[in-house]
Amino acid sequence: MTNRGGTSVSLSIGGEQILVDCGSLAVHRMLEHGVNPTEVETLFFTHHHIDHTADFFQFVISSWSLGRESLTVYGPKGTERFVNAIYDLFEDDIQYREWFGHGAKGIRDIDVVPVDSEFSMSTERWSVSALPVEHSIETYAYRFTETSTGQTCVISGDTRRIDELSEFASDADLLVQDCCLAPTSTDSTFADHIPNRLAGPISDEMRRKHKQNHCDPEDAGSIAAEAGVDRLVLTHLLPNRDHDAMRKKARTVFDGEIEVAADGMCISLDKNN
Ligand SMILES: [Zn+2]
Ligand SMILES: [Zn+2]
Repeated sequence: MTNRGGTSVSLSIGGEQILVDCGSLAVHRMLEHGVNPTEVETLFFTHHHIDHTADFFQFVISSWSLGRESLTVYGPKGTERFVNAIYDLFEDDIQYREWFGHGAKGIRDIDVVPVDSEFSMSTERWSVSALPVEHSIETYAYRFTETSTGQTCVISGDTRRIDELSEFASDADLLVQDCCLAPTSTDSTFADHIPNRLAGPISDEMRRKHKQNHCDPEDAGSIAAEAGVDRLVLTHLLPNRDHDAMRKKARTVFDGEIEVAADGMCISLDKNN
């Protein structure tokens, strides 16, 4: 249970490092798996739930004090509040570090770019577009394409199953898909550490509420199948999930590659790797 942090995906695209969401342990996992946080100058938020934002302050202040000199944060309404909260909460801390000689660049000049349903942008090296999805708060899926290779990765964000997502993910090389509503594991290895609420199957009432906001493996598989993606990664797992059962359920509707996400999992879209 403790081997999984919050939701966060690091993309290496066109020679740049982009972070999508910044859940708990994001900075630790980057350091553990060879991603230098000082090289992450672009961050996208899918939405502002705590499991996607908990490490944001840690990321911003630690990467700046280690040498990052630029940062642009993209996200739904409210993203500016997150950035401004850094100065509200940590002004003394920032001044203390500036006293050591760390410059203002990368902390005093953070750019915030609002994302809405019309959002898309491109640089010479990569492009991205956004799709509003259906969750309890404003949430976006993102589709990233590397210019030089045309390789495309779609990140669903948290969402219930919607037809628009299949269209948005059309022909992507990789779909990283919310699959929160997964069957519980009967493996008792961590039984002592699992809160009762997560130990067994959820009630019909809870399942109904979750289905309004998240996908199950069949939803994830059907989105991948309709989109015609090459690879499907099931993510956003609650603790104590049965990974084999997840893959099998998704397999009933999708015949491409299926993996269950794990912290530190690294996927290359380069056909030569
Ligand atoms: Zn959420
Ligand atoms: Zn979430």
